[in-house]
Amino acid sequence: MLSPDLVATLQAVARGDGRVTVLTGAGISAESGIPTFRGPEGYWTVGSREYHPQEMATNAMFRRDPDAVWQWYLYRMGVCARASPNAGHRAVVSLEEILGDRFTLITQNVDNLHLRAGSSPERTYQIHGNVFFMRCAASCSPEIYPIPSRVAPKEKGEALTAADLQRLCCPRCGTRSRPHVLWFDETYNEHFFRFESALRTAVATQLLIVVGTAGATNLPNQVAWVVKQRGGIIVDINIEDNPFARLALAGGDGFSVRQSGGRALPSIARALK
Ligand SMILES: [Zn+2]
Repeated sequence: MLSPDLVATLQAVARGDGRVTVLTGAGISAESGIPTFRGPEGYWTVGSREYHPQEMATNAMFRRDPDAVWQWYLYRMGVCARASPNAGHRAVVSLEEILGDRFTLITQNVDNLHLRAGSSPERTYQIHGNVFFMRCAASCSPEIYPIPSRVAPKEKGEALTAADLQRLCCPRCGTRSRPHVLWFDETYNEHFFRFESALRTAVATQLLIVVGTAGATNLPNQVAWVVKQRGGIIVDINIEDNPFARLALAGGDGFSVRQSGGRALPSIARALK
């Protein structure tokens, strides 16, 4: 159940022509069983040492040991491939169907579940990339390629095969490819991560729905602040308190919904219909 105030706000937005943006983080995919990989689930042993996700997900680590980084991402790809989109992902698809060009999805998740649920690639900004895709590690072109289907996901401790290494080469120049994700020691850009598009969307957003995001990364914070500064309404959906909930409630016009995305988003879609 949503509060009557929130339902009235959503209905007013639906009647108008303002833009609606949904910003999702790990929380929405946790309901599909995907861990954040920032905690112990993301620890990875290379040789005799255990690495933390903040070390693995770096360009520095890829330069030092590209095979280890690929093994880790192929393991993560397998975890994501075995998971299925949940009611939250499906409700986001409904929101896009209801709102059409008024709608944008900005996601920090690299698990592909939004696209698998049916969100359109055109209106979905995957600001941290997607583990099912790769690109040339030598940047011979800005092209993004799907990881070939014959590259099998890895279990922990499973090595890459010679065939894997061949299939993971850049299709254009034949050197190594790399996972198409934003690493901790890299910066956002427009071509790969829709950085400017996300900020432009924020400027025009009347209603921002933040789902399952803790606010640890830079671009989501910027998006929320821009929306707030320009008088937009923020609805935070999270089972835990977080900085977006406090930002939403500041000024008295936003909402904090202490429910999971799988529970709250279908109600929001019904109210916007
Ligand atoms: Zn290349």
